[in-house]
Amino acid sequence: MISKRLEKAITIQETSTNFNDLYIDSVNESDKAVYVTVKSSNSDEEYYVSLIYDLWRCSCSDFYHNGLHKEDGSFLCKHIIATILHLGGCE
Ligand SMILES: [Zn+2]
Repeated sequence: MISKRLEKAITIQETSTNFNDLYIDSVNESDKAVYVTVKSSNSDEEYYVSLIYDLWRCSCSDFYHNGLHKEDGSFLCKHIIATILHLGGCE
């Protein structure tokens, strides 16, 4: 499900981002989509990450400001990366 291109992006961003304050609250998978709730452990913030037809989206302002102006699927905020790492670890 996770393409090579995404894996590369993860490796790059993983080294410069701290994920320790994030955890995966819930994962709902269907045939064509994955919906994930990502929470921050040091605040009440909650983000909704989705993977639909191989495209990641997130409800955070980082994704809103950076992701929507780029090629679809090319921007991954830390919530998306945390999700990918989490899902990858479950396989
Ligand atoms: Zn995000």
